[in-house]
Amino acid sequence: MSGIAVGEYGSGLDAVSEKPEKILPGDARYGELSHSDNHRFEVTPDAFILPLNSYGVVSALREAIDDRSEVACRSGGHCGQDFVGSPRRNTILDLHRLNFVAAGAGNSGVRIGAGATVGEVQKELFRRWGAALPLGACSAVGMGGLVAGGGYGPLSRQLGLVADHLNAVEVAVVDSSRHVQLVTARASDDGELGDLFWAHTGGGGGNFGFATAYEFRSPKHLTGTDIELPRACTALNVQKVIYPWTMLNEDSFVSLVQQFFAWHEQHQVGGTPEASVFATFFLHHNSSPFLQLMVQSDADIDVDGSALAAFVDGLTAGTAINGISRGGRMTWLTGTRYMSQADCGDVMGARSASKSAYHRKALTDTQISVVYRHLTNQHPGTASYLMLNSYGGEINRRGSSETASTQRDSIVKSSWFTAWSDPADDYLQVDWLRDLYESVFASTGGVPIFGDTTAGCYINYPDIDMRDPARNRSGQPWHRLYYGENYARLQRTKRTWDPLNIFHHKMSIEP
Ligand SMILES: Cc1cc2nc3c(=O)[nH]c(=O)nc-3n(C[C@H](O)[C@H](O)[C@H](O)COP(=O)(O)OP(=O)(O)OC[C@H]3O[C@@H](n4cnc5c(N)ncnc54)[C@H](O)[C@@H]3O)c2cc1C
Repeated sequence: MSGIAVGEYGSGLDAVSEKPEKILPGDARYGELSHSDNHRFEVTPDAFILPLNSYGVVSALREAIDDRSEVACRSGGHCGQDFVGSPRRNTILDLHRLNFVAAGAGNSGVRIGAGATVGEVQKELFRRWGAALPLGACSAVGMGGLVAGGGYGPLSRQLGLVADHLNAVEVAVVDSSRHVQLVTARASDDGELGDLFWAHTGGGGGNFGFATAYEFRSPKHLTGTDIELPRACTALNVQKVIYPWTMLNEDSFVSLVQQFFAWHEQHQVGGTPEASVFATFFLHHNSSPFLQLMVQSDADIDVDGSALAAFVDGLTAGTAINGISRGGRMTWLTGTRYMSQADCGDVMGARSASKSAYHRKALTDTQISVVYRHLTNQHPGTASYLMLNSYGGEINRRGSSETASTQRDSIVKSSWFTAWSDPADDYLQVDWLRDLYESVFASTGGVPIFGDTTAGCYINYPDIDMRDPARNRSGQPWHRLYYGENYARLQRTKRTWDPLNIFHHKMSIEP
């Protein structure tokens, strides 16, 4: 690596000399830290290190490298797979104390610690500057993993991906002489630094080094505040609609899902009132009493809520289904929190498995019938569903290699999910999910290949089954599904910036 710029986004010099706290087994906090969001996996290092700033990250990483320890980092702990704890690490840096949100140099842009959560960032951006980024719907997800994997959320059809607003990233890296340094890579950089920046716009966490801070500044056509980030709208139209299973049969279910896709096929361009409509449709297994739609639109653009209403009404057109609605017009932050996915209650302590797909076109009626049969078969689900998320709009204005997030022509992104609590049910649950997914994509080798109707998978919803030739029978390797043609540049970046493959997990970029 050459042309290195020294990192500059640490949270302040005052804490430089303060040694990061070390949490050892026996400490009550060790038990808590041993579990991330997905309790299927346990993380049991010799010690957790809690740095306070970038310099703490560098010193802890340096110590681990000097000791030849296995080391990994965690930000929000929402990885669906066991990438942080496996292979077993001697040291894990938990970055949750790097949760600052501060104006950038010259009040331009905003710099955000990798350990900040989506909820913390949403509140700070809005309360201090009236600004917003297209962050995800789960407030407890960490910026560390979210941004590196591209990141999307309810504002993405209007504003693109989170990583589309990234201007710089500060990363602790290790060179071939085992020397640890903090570098800043910017959107304007060429060459190796340019590669490092680009790799943080969709390459995924745990690959190149430890990102300590991200700086966001939006492309000119999206700016609206002093800090050059999109202005949050004054209000949102938000609606939750439930469709009781008692009102559904196979025909009406197929129609409902087909209309969801049809609307997205029809409204896939940006810059319209419809582009401000974003929906998440939870097609729950019928062990849950209903399907649930969460939908919002920007009330500054969709002033009377007619675009949102037309979308919701169109879903049940021609059927006898009557959805039960709640919601209304809410100020931005309140509406955003209304749309948030729960970070409490039954989801806490759950074991889970998930898969994903990008959809260029609608699922066929036959595929939707397959979904129906799996959602109505015998299955002891506590939370088992197919989640359809709106995509397209501003996301698709970018080219497929402009950022590392290559899928730029999809209309819907789906997440296939099951959660449970008893370890004895692991096989049963994972098997149900595999059967659902592989049956729906049976004609393309059990996976959503890069092809006419689908465009692979989302690296922030990773699934190690995609590496298994018994499960991915498509002939397209896992990296093609996640990264398409961008994989070669990611590999080159890996060879430059992590030549010793210090940062690795079960689906990391292969040098
Ligand atoms: C309930 C839930 C809701 C979600 N909602 C959304 C959503 O709305 N939109 C969306 O885009 N995604 C969503 N996701 C996916 C989420 O973006 C990814 O799981 C993301 O990787 C989580 O980041 P994290 O920092 O919380 O996770 P972690 O488990 O801390 O990290 C994930 C991976 O990134 C690595 N990593 C973490 N921090 C860093 C860092 N600072 N530098 C380098 N590598 C790092 C880890 O080692 C690990 O490999 C959701 C996930 C869950 C479980």
